[in-house]
Amino acid sequence: MIDIEQLPNKDYARILDNQDPLRSFRNHFYFPIKKNGEPYLYFCGNSLGLQPKKAKVAVENVLKDWKQLGVEGHFEGNNPWIHYHEAISKTMAQLVGAKPIEVAIMNTLTINLHMLLVSFYTPTQQRYKILVEEDIFPSDRYAINSHLEWHGHRDGLIELKARPGEVLLRTGDIDQVLERQGHEIALVLLGNPNYYTGQTFDLKHLATKAHEMGCLVGFDLAHGVGNIPLELHDAGIDFGIWCTYKYLNAGPGSIAGCFIHERHAHNQDLPRLAGWWGQKHESRFLMPNQFDPIPGAEGWQVSNLPILSLAPILASLEIFEAAGMLALRKKSILLTGYLEKLILNLRNSGIKIITPKNPEERGCQLSIQVQNADKSLFEKISSQGVILDWREPDVIRVAPTPLYNSFEDVYDFVEILSTCLHK
Ligand SMILES: *Cc1c(COP(=O)(O)O)cnc(C)c1O
Repeated sequence: MIDIEQLPNKDYARILDNQDPLRSFRNHFYFPIKKNGEPYLYFCGNSLGLQPKKAKVAVENVLKDWKQLGVEGHFEGNNPWIHYHEAISKTMAQLVGAKPIEVAIMNTLTINLHMLLVSFYTPTQQRYKILVEEDIFPSDRYAINSHLEWHGHRDGLIELKARPGEVLLRTGDIDQVLERQGHEIALVLLGNPNYYTGQTFDLKHLATKAHEMGCLVGFDLAHGVGNIPLELHDAGIDFGIWCTYKYLNAGPGSIAGCFIHERHAHNQDLPRLAGWWGQKHESRFLMPNQFDPIPGAEGWQVSNLPILSLAPILASLEIFEAAGMLALRKKSILLTGYLEKLILNLRNSGIKIITPKNPEERGCQLSIQVQNADKSLFEKISSQGVILDWREPDVIRVAPTPLYNSFEDVYDFVEILSTCLHK
């Protein structure tokens, strides 16, 4: 619990840090450094996670094996490439609450969305619509629209809108859309949390509701994995996709993850874009003409994996495993709650937090809107050594990540915010 009386007091931030069992984990990461040699205040883990110090060694180990072993590195060396992804998939499956058969790491997020739309968007004349949020991530919108066009259903997009004067979606309203239009919806695809508002959804509830209406359900978890605890298997969603360079700290453009529910693991009738890395291990190198996919998510793999890009994920997931997702979540609720209370404590700030107030309906990110402010406020804050994220037209996204942000970071940020507001 945060002691409201103590809010204006920087020593209190230090006390909270001292009580934080995860406080030492920030030492595993490099913070970007200003010209004067001091670290930036970094709140952009929702855009690009920081570099784990161990990433370099992990990459160097791959380079070393390649140098010394050439092609034999596939089967020999520190961590033979043919099995390299296995430890990563295992930890990743735990992180998202999935069975090992349900998770693969491959491609990038939008590519995975394209691949899974091929399999899970199979429209008929009666059922061809795709239900999304109005403020869906643009890349997802482009990808989905391209599939709608390809199938000749340009009018197939249905957008969930917040009520007039509201920003967040209400579950009851989504239910109503499903009840009314579910019979013509082939697929529901939402972001969890939504990248803009930070709102999370009840996956199990929505999956159940959508399935009742005969729709399939996918989630874009770019902002969820490594941020909030997930139970994808139990939630029963059909598929999920995420990138690893945000909260998972695997480096710019690193390889993405995907979840495909076990119920589809052995279904060879689903259309899919196939490649040799989806072929069963026993026969892959026999190069048969007949495609016989690995059961489960790995059957959707197309190409052999870029091991140099996997190396930092390995380093990063070791840190996640050591910290534990539940401990991270516990800290995250406290840290974001502290940020929220400090912001609300500012006098006449004109700030509105559009992210849900209930910690159960959000991750670590707060999206803040400042009355009458334009991008110049964001620029002022940035010039004070804070790295944040601006989204048009008027939202600043702040993501204190429990792995490497401290209560003192949060305190310092709000102090800078306060000065910039009144300048
Ligand atoms: C970051 C992000 C992506 C990124 O897609 P890439 O294909 O990895 O470039 C997709 N969806 C959401 C919601 C994101 O936040």
